[in-house]
Amino acid sequence: MPSTAHRSKVLKGVTDIQDNFVLYLSEWKNRIPALRSWVLNIHVTTDSLPKHAAYEAKTGAYTEAWSKYENATINLHLPDDPEIETEELEEIAIHELMHILLSPWNEGWQMAMGKRLTEEMKDVLLIMEEQACTRLACGYMRTKHPKHTEEVKA
Ligand SMILES: [Zn+2]
Repeated sequence: MPSTAHRSKVLKGVTDIQDNFVLYLSEWKNRIPALRSWVLNIHVTTDSLPKHAAYEAKTGAYTEAWSKYENATINLHLPDDPEIETEELEEIAIHELMHILLSPWNEGWQMAMGKRLTEEMKDVLLIMEEQACTRLACGYMRTKHPKHTEEVKA
């Protein structure tokens, strides 16, 4: 059983989950100064994930960020009749914000490598980015929930 089970509340239904997701994103956006000037577009839906984002399917969240414009779209795809623990939802929110923080890194690789950036290299970069986001999100979670251990792999 995850260590969060005894403290975390279960959220039910799209509206409840969406409201809390927006609150977590806004709280953590404010806690991380580099993100305060960003505009976040948040989409929560029960539609299935688009194919290009299927690699994120474990939690159903993915983020597209344009660092030049400090504009990002965070998508959370939920199943019908969704249920999620508050701590898991909060960690997903932070994880997606970490993708925004790391987005200039990605854009830098594309700019530096151009067409030499192969699909294989993109896969490696993606795996490294996911790992970094997961570890950073877990670390940030522990600044608020000292006993947090669950690592969301989104
Ligand atoms: Zn991710």
